[in-house]
Amino acid sequence: MTIQESLNRLKEGNARFVADQLNSKLQDSSRRESLLDGQQPYAIILGCADSRVVPELTFDTGLGELFVVRVAGNVANSSSIASIEYAVAHLGTKLIVVLAHQSCGAVTAAVAGGDNGYNLNHLLSHIIPAIAASKKGASINEVAIKNAELTVGELKNRSDIIKNAIDKGDVKVVAAYYNLDTGKIDFI
Ligand SMILES: [Zn+2]
Repeated sequence: MTIQESLNRLKEGNARFVADQLNSKLQDSSRRESLLDGQQPYAIILGCADSRVVPELTFDTGLGELFVVRVAGNVANSSSIASIEYAVAHLGTKLIVVLAHQSCGAVTAAVAGGDNGYNLNHLLSHIIPAIAASKKGASINEVAIKNAELTVGELKNRSDIIKNAIDKGDVKVVAAYYNLDTGKIDFI
């Protein structure tokens, strides 16, 4: 599958999700069996942990289709980057989608500032650059979109594996934004 074909497949799946017409195939026992020898997911999704933003559902996919990495704020930290590197290097996945979303709690917390304790402070520090890069008075959703855009660059800048694959034309990284109200995913 080419990068464009993968992207089209995601868009078509999301259109079905928006229209309440989930296909829901590739989730049964025969699909499970067909995947016993390995996986070849056609897209990597770096998404938020938010319970309302579930990539497998929002793209109407089944088993073995998406390699999903979820962390609050869909940030590029060492663990999320390493997970993505695995799929790029060992599974041959060509498309990476950084998926931001409406009303993100992590972005909200980062914008609010303050001390949230060691672990959350560390996570939110990855979102600070997006706040700095957004215009003054930017909304939470605008910062979330900026965060996804910057994260696209981070994946390349902080990973030789991802950078080399992009430079060779083997991998493309795109930002996207999930609308909680409509279910639609806008590719940015
Ligand atoms: Zn979120």
